[in-house]
Amino acid sequence: MESFNKMRKKSPVPKILNLIYPPVCGFCGKLNQNFLCPKCRKLLEKEAIFGVDNYIKINESKMKFKEQNYILETLQNKNENLNIINNQNKTENQINNNLNNKKENRKKNTKKNEIAVQEYIAKYFDEHLYIFLYKGIIRRMILDYKFNEEAYLYKTFVNFLLKNKNFFEKLEKYDTIIPVPISNKRLKSRGYNQSLLLAREISRNTSFNLKLQTDCLIKVKDIIEQSKLNKEERAKNIQGVYELFNGKKLYNKKILLVDDIFTTGSTVNECSKVLRKANPKTIGIFTIAKDELE
Ligand SMILES: [Zn+2]
Repeated sequence: MESFNKMRKKSPVPKILNLIYPPVCGFCGKLNQNFLCPKCRKLLEKEAIFGVDNYIKINESKMKFKEQNYILETLQNKNENLNIINNQNKTENQINNNLNNKKENRKKNTKKNEIAVQEYIAKYFDEHLYIFLYKGIIRRMILDYKFNEEAYLYKTFVNFLLKNKNFFEKLEKYDTIIPVPISNKRLKSRGYNQSLLLAREISRNTSFNLKLQTDCLIKVKDIIEQSKLNKEERAKNIQGVYELFNGKKLYNKKILLVDDIFTTGSTVNECSKVLRKANPKTIGIFTIAKDELE
């Protein structure tokens, strides 16, 4: 936070940006240098949950279905879930052995889990960080941000994020930040990529090195907007839409992939799948909000 304030004072960039985007509260429109007035900050604080969802990496080729199934059962038990997450540094074999020692619980809820496992094993990222649930006033704000040309709202969100020290520290384990790209066609019609604005603002205001990479993940195919489709359609629609470029830049990197909303997760998941080809060390997702229905 301190470094953030220092940077704002030193850098000429905010002054220039002020000419483009007036320094107003993204909520109520009152002039405010922090893009968020104290009154609205209180409102946002009420809404914020600063969520962290963890996902375990599963090597699909090495694992039998039953073992995957068992892992899911384990995941559904919150305590054990935390236990595994705390042991993230263990090798996959160690985790497997650990799980195999508890086979007695294995036969429960098989049918239900089969479906869930299919969804579960398809995750290509390790954790998901989000500030809000996608509902109420937050939902309205994000919809404004996306569709009503209120591009400066990203500053309100990032400013709010940077003031939460605990959550901000969670970003420190990453070294590379990548926005979910939009197509050139969409860029032309909207004028900006909201995820890029977010990612750039986060990158600029971090005291540690969080390098913005925009030339590695490219959208190569224009598709029907995901928001118009259901979960199954989304997963299908998004396939083959992104491509990896300059993969060497991402080797062994700790990537934070940025999007505005996490709904079914199919977009960030497809991006993560593509990014995995570069053999990064880890991939985390950051979104402003997560849809509760997911
Ligand atoms: Zn306000």
